[in-house]
Amino acid sequence: MTDERFFNAEEAYSRSELEALQQERLRATVKHCMNSPFYRERFRSAGLSQDDIRSLDDLHKIPFTTKQDLRDTYPFGIASVPLGDCTRLHSSSGTTGNPTVILHTARDLDQWANAVARCLWMVGCRPDDVFQNTSGYGMFTGGLGFQYGAEKLGMLTVPAAAGNTLRQLKFFKDFRTTVVHAIPSYAARLYEVMCQQGIDPRRDLSLRTLVIGAEPHSEDTRRRIEDMLGVKAYNSFGMSEMMGPGVAFECPGQNGMHIWEDYFIVEIVDPVTLEPVPDGEVGELVLTTINREAMPLLRYRTRDLTRILPGECPCGRVHRRLDRMKGRSDDMIILKGVNIFPIQIEQVLMQFSELATDYLITLQTLDDNDGMTVEVEISEKVLTDDYSALQKLEKEITRCLRDEILITPKVRLVPFGSIPKSEGKAVRVKDLRKQY
Ligand code: AMP
Ligand code: ZN
Repeated sequence: MTDERFFNAEEAYSRSELEALQQERLRATVKHCMNSPFYRERFRSAGLSQDDIRSLDDLHKIPFTTKQDLRDTYPFGIASVPLGDCTRLHSSSGTTGNPTVILHTARDLDQWANAVARCLWMVGCRPDDVFQNTSGYGMFTGGLGFQYGAEKLGMLTVPAAAGNTLRQLKFFKDFRTTVVHAIPSYAARLYEVMCQQGIDPRRDLSLRTLVIGAEPHSEDTRRRIEDMLGVKAYNSFGMSEMMGPGVAFECPGQNGMHIWEDYFIVEIVDPVTLEPVPDGEVGELVLTTINREAMPLLRYRTRDLTRILPGECPCGRVHRRLDRMKGRSDDMIILKGVNIFPIQIEQVLMQFSELATDYLITLQTLDDNDGMTVEVEISEKVLTDDYSALQKLEKEITRCLRDEILITPKVRLVPFGSIPKSEGKAVRVKDLRKQY
């Protein structure tokens, strides 16, 4: 590529070039899916033939694929190639029933690495950078997904893997790490340990870019993490079913994540009626993979709620932008008949500069009444011996939360670092309610 901004020519495509490519790839994908016993049967029972899908407008004729379909066909029933052609599988564990399995051919893995490299290049990563990955390496795609993407770009990679924060910090220092991948809750943990160790990231480290994703986080959380670590933080969205990281990623504009439309066809639908919603309105993200061999998925209901950001992006890419994830439809808390997303609570909490970034929502039943307790850590900069000031703060947070979620939670301020941390995605909600 002659244009330094782009890693692949497809990034610079116009809308019509992109749609022409999508159409061609959709037709090829549907044809290829007829090798899958699952999709053959799906098409047969819907009275559809591969020839009915000729253009992008025909997409809506195809039935949705759901997570339940992946479970029902566990482990290999959706594959469109013989197992002998596959070179890796990833599996994501569900809370109930069978886990889901995603198969990859060598070409799939190469295309996945390309997508991740494209994302990292977009935010200024170059071969002379040092990339440290704090994700677990294993079934979680944030490990190997970023590893191969960063290698494809040509950075020096430090596959530190999850945990052992003191060792992570030593690597930052000794290897002069410039780019880090961490989930948001772990980025905050890194800072907590830096404070304990007397490390000032701006003075003592070379960090410049942080890739954060894998779990919902608010704009304020991002700004705080940037401020703590002295980095620019870019939101990264992915899911194992689509491959892993590399699905959608923020550009330097930090305003929405470009979803790579040469890899995916994007739809946003009303989760109840399953009808499309207009650009700008929140709904469930539905994705069709058009660049995969082993296990393409047609109209996959991700259960993630987001919206397409209308308008053009100044960076010059026409690949549409997804807004920050609002959460998954199955993360929604229903308390006393009110629907609440944990991110709504986070948004309120992060407006208080006295608070740190970690919090825990507990739902419990007391005297046959369901209620919510929100525990939140106080920032390390706030003195905790002024009891009346803390009480006042608790009251103010309670009031703001009630305005947002229409329920009055019990708010408890707890010392910095006291909420238990998990190595993987943060556990933000504990539901201890009595089940009737
Ligand atoms: P997994 O397949 O285990 O990697 O989990 C994928 C899920 O993680 C997605 O469906 C989203 O619910 C969530 N996720 C991934 N990236 C983000 C992100 N940047 N913001 C919010 N949620 C995310
Ligand atoms: Zn952009």
